[in-house]
Amino acid sequence: MGAVAFIGLGNMGLPMALNLVRAGHQVTGFDLSPAAKQAASDGGIVLAGSAVDCVRGADVVITMLPAGKHVLAVWEEIIGAAKPGALLIDSSTIDVDSARAAHALAEAKGLRSLDAPVSGGTGGASAGTLTFMCGGSAEAFAAGRNYLEAMGKRIVHCGGAGAGQAAKVCNNMILGATMVATCEAFVLAEKLGLDHQALFDVVSTSSGQSWSTTSYCPVPGPVPTSPANNGYKPGFAAALMLKDLLLSQEAAASIGAVTPMGAAATGLYQRFVAEGSGEVDFSGIIGFLREGTLDH
Ligand code: NAD
Repeated sequence: MGAVAFIGLGNMGLPMALNLVRAGHQVTGFDLSPAAKQAASDGGIVLAGSAVDCVRGADVVITMLPAGKHVLAVWEEIIGAAKPGALLIDSSTIDVDSARAAHALAEAKGLRSLDAPVSGGTGGASAGTLTFMCGGSAEAFAAGRNYLEAMGKRIVHCGGAGAGQAAKVCNNMILGATMVATCEAFVLAEKLGLDHQALFDVVSTSSGQSWSTTSYCPVPGPVPTSPANNGYKPGFAAALMLKDLLLSQEAAASIGAVTPMGAAATGLYQRFVAEGSGEVDFSGIIGFLREGTLDH
């Protein structure tokens, strides 16, 4: 068991930190938001007065922050106070370049580091069933594994610095594109007079199968736990899907990769979010496609 500093106690960070406490680790937390601090304190997390105070004496420092600029700002602030031999883990979803810059900050101080973004959402964070996609040295991965296992059920070493974020943007680019394709197929089926359940029964066992149909079907009925049965309450908000798709396009542009399906999905989610649907579950884009507003 070790001493963990956890910075960023929001929708994901707080339940992750609580799972570390449950596993017997000694967790000290920090967040800028008074509401997040109150929720963390109510949950039994010991709070530090600053990010620097939070990391003093910690064996492992974990950040769970909105974007690359927040991660770099926090890592620059705390790096001088981290104890020799500490392991720094960033689990936020951020751009690959910022992730590599964060690794470089750690390396310059002789500290080990991992980029370890997650899949599984707030439900997985609470249940301790997240998937962690890790980038960094084999030694850093071995040192972090026990801590990540307290918060997740699948811990994958994807490669060197930035490989975790690369895996995350590739996965979520597939997710965005397959969700749009799945929604289009269900709308086409409706217009052809085909029943939702009939299409589900075929697609879920045929070559059109994907997670977007079998686990997260965008129409009510076939998958009772999908947000379609709950008024498209997230789940995974469209604004977060757009964030990840934009990261995929930024990564693709930076190395000249051609991703036309990813670009198309990004454009559709941009329009969906711009019309005020950012807080709707990302599968709710089916309503946008059904209304034919994309014809104009
Ligand atoms: P959130 O906005 O709920 O939490 C982020 C927290 O960071 C906030 O409490 C904020 O006050 C805090 N923060 C910001 N700057 C800070 C600073 N300088 N010092 C200390 N605290 C600071 O976001 P979230 O939903 O918990 O997501 C966190 C990360 O996880 C994001 O990168 C997101 O893309 C990723 N993610 C989210 C989900 C999800 O379903 N919510 C799923 C997978 C990955």
